[in-house]
Amino acid sequence: MPAQPRRRALLRAMLALAASPAIASAADEALPDRAGSPLAPWQPGWLDIHHIATGRGNATFVMLPDGTSMLIDAGASNNGLDTSVAPRPDASRRAGEWIGRYARRHLRRAGLVALDYLLVTHVHPDHTGDVGAASPLAANGKYRLSGVTDVAELLEIGTVVDRGYPDYAYPAPIQGAFADNYRAFVQERRRAGRAVERVKVGSATQLRAMGHRPGAPAFEIRNVAANGEVWSGQGESAVAHFPPLSTLARADWPNENVCSIAVRLGYGRFSYFTAGDLTSYTEDGALPWRDILGPAAKAAGPASVATADHHGMFDGLDAEVVRALRPQVWVVPSWHIAHPDMLQLERMFSQRLYPGPRDVFATSVMRENMLANGRLTSRMRSHDGHVVVRVAPGGARFHVAVTDNRDEDDRVALVTGPYLA
Ligand SMILES: [Zn+2]
Repeated sequence: MPAQPRRRALLRAMLALAASPAIASAADEALPDRAGSPLAPWQPGWLDIHHIATGRGNATFVMLPDGTSMLIDAGASNNGLDTSVAPRPDASRRAGEWIGRYARRHLRRAGLVALDYLLVTHVHPDHTGDVGAASPLAANGKYRLSGVTDVAELLEIGTVVDRGYPDYAYPAPIQGAFADNYRAFVQERRRAGRAVERVKVGSATQLRAMGHRPGAPAFEIRNVAANGEVWSGQGESAVAHFPPLSTLARADWPNENVCSIAVRLGYGRFSYFTAGDLTSYTEDGALPWRDILGPAAKAAGPASVATADHHGMFDGLDAEVVRALRPQVWVVPSWHIAHPDMLQLERMFSQRLYPGPRDVFATSVMRENMLANGRLTSRMRSHDGHVVVRVAPGGARFHVAVTDNRDEDDRVALVTGPYLA
């Protein structure tokens, strides 16, 4: 190589290093996680966000700095193996059982026994559980076990927060055995005197610190969107984005996905944004109000870590959403052959939409998807395993640990970071 290009290459490498403010210096203290070792237990002051990879749907277990715990969704789809990855760890248990056991063992390691919150972003099988004739009945005989009901069978749940309580009638009652089963679960909880609440958009106090471990720095869980309402960014007020149903053709009414709950976790400089299956797609401008993800991302962003909502499907992230969130870490909650979509990956990696380094992780990517999208999936940091975001006390630094989802040992396969929030 002639001298000139070599110097240029060296300069480029130095500039790339200098342009990586997100990567903390090597002098920083060692991370608690190491590849090959079990995931270090949660400690007071840490914020841990576990994207659980069952291959059957979304489930995110959150341990907050004071020991408050929250599970966001507990999906259990019955998709076939031609279109979905195989169940993980294996098919000997239902996905909801694996999720409940995951949350339970991490709570126990922290000296805790109950889950404080179950946040249900919307009622779909890959977020709440599918049911069929083969789904066993709960011990109380009132509903079948799948997804959230499997979790509830294993763990005491303090408060369930969803978008539809109490009537589940907006914009119209959801049809399907899975929805009937979820409503039966809610009804039984209420009969037993247990808490269920409808999400209050804009609120930063509905999901609050329970103070299980005193002395932890303050954090905030902001309800950013649901049912077409989006937090205004001011106080706790929200703005309605859906037009009155009476002005819409019945076929154009908001669907379940676009009614999803979005939340933002804030901890010091760190923030995390996730929004169930919210989408930004407007049918190419025909239905502009369908873009709820855009206003939600603008109200909540920028974020240190964000999920590629609706599993990285074609209708999730548009350019404006990516510009608004501009995270250092993207997590794609994926398992289906269509997850993630190629253009969604282009946007997540695009240096034109926002400059600087970023890492992209996925919970599970099918081989067929990797073959189709290899040019971009090859740039992802992981394609299989639980993606655990761990924020150090105070919220200034975080790292990501990917753990093996083939058993329940929580062995670390990969550690990235530290990142500066
Ligand atoms: Zn979904």
